[in-house]
Amino acid sequence: MSGLYLHIPFCNEKCHYCDFYSGNQLYLMDDYVDAIVSELSLREDYLVDKEISTIYFGGGTPSLMSSVQLLKILDKIKERFAVKSDAEITLECNPENVNSSYLRELESIGVNRISLGVQFLDDKILERFNRKHSKVLIMNALYVLMSSRIENISVDLIYSVPGISDESLISSLKLLLDYDIKHFSAYSLTIAKNSKLYWKVRSGEVVENDENSFISQYCLINNELISKGYKQYEVSNYAKEDFVSRHNLAYWNQIPYLGVGVSAHSYNLYSRQWNIKSIKKYINNSKKGIIDFDIESLTDVEKYNEYIILKLRTYQGISNNYVLNNFGENIYRHFHKNMLKLKNKGHFEFIGDLVISKMSDLLLADYLAKNLVY
Ligand code: SF4
Repeated sequence: MSGLYLHIPFCNEKCHYCDFYSGNQLYLMDDYVDAIVSELSLREDYLVDKEISTIYFGGGTPSLMSSVQLLKILDKIKERFAVKSDAEITLECNPENVNSSYLRELESIGVNRISLGVQFLDDKILERFNRKHSKVLIMNALYVLMSSRIENISVDLIYSVPGISDESLISSLKLLLDYDIKHFSAYSLTIAKNSKLYWKVRSGEVVENDENSFISQYCLINNELISKGYKQYEVSNYAKEDFVSRHNLAYWNQIPYLGVGVSAHSYNLYSRQWNIKSIKKYINNSKKGIIDFDIESLTDVEKYNEYIILKLRTYQGISNNYVLNNFGENIYRHFHKNMLKLKNKGHFEFIGDLVISKMSDLLLADYLAKNLVY
């Protein structure tokens, strides 16, 4: 089983907190789609297991693509890979791009999951961070989504944002919970080095929230979502029964995936590779049948460290046997000794072969990882 990730690096404008690779040269979209189609052909042998269970269009703003452009990519994927009949096919959408005819087109070409980039519901904050939608547009997008035949709707939120109080955060969340949203991703605001926000914080124009605010808002979101029947299956992700994101799980379970497009990362159990970060170069290279990427092979220690870091963020737990069988005795001894120390402090419980951290310890995932990595 494998996954596909398609990076669509176009946005109308840059949000002030964002450091993802994206540009506003929308006139290049058709050429870019052709380049993606070409890369899919050139790299069809990257995945040993070509059965695809999840396809994810991320960005950037994939909802700036027309259904015709998306279909061109999906057709090529189906030509080169074995897409499971029930594969999860996700498109990240910005609220301003959601309308009923677009959703009908998406549904007709096989998109069955929408990840809506809400982020905040406060008009002043939306404007301050240069988001291109308002609260009214968000509500309209949700209304239209709920009336569509795409059932699997996820909403992205950002918390611990300067200017958003606990009260305002919780009333926004309650408003969203009036809709039948199947999945939430909630991340705290990070001040990314290449973002505009970074310079605003450095100049003193924006004052970063402190750790207490982060913990308090994390707990508020956590309590509210869990009380409404969502399962927290990772530090920042919550889902209703049967709606855990397969794309996310594939990543946390270290399932091989092919990342296609500018700056996209791929992983095949032995190495990671990532494509160049230039839309124009990527398009020009593809016309010559070239894919320009960097690659790094993973050592057993790196693979073990990744396994630990990823598993500590989820409810799935760390398998003793997996560590022993995949990373050798030395690493296993290190893991076992340090894991027992943490267990004695009350951080873990055993369920069969699995070492599980308590859900209340998810916020401590980084601390626990520090004690277990090799
Ligand atoms: S946050 Fe999303 S929409 Fe905003 S600039 Fe970054 S990728 Fe584009």
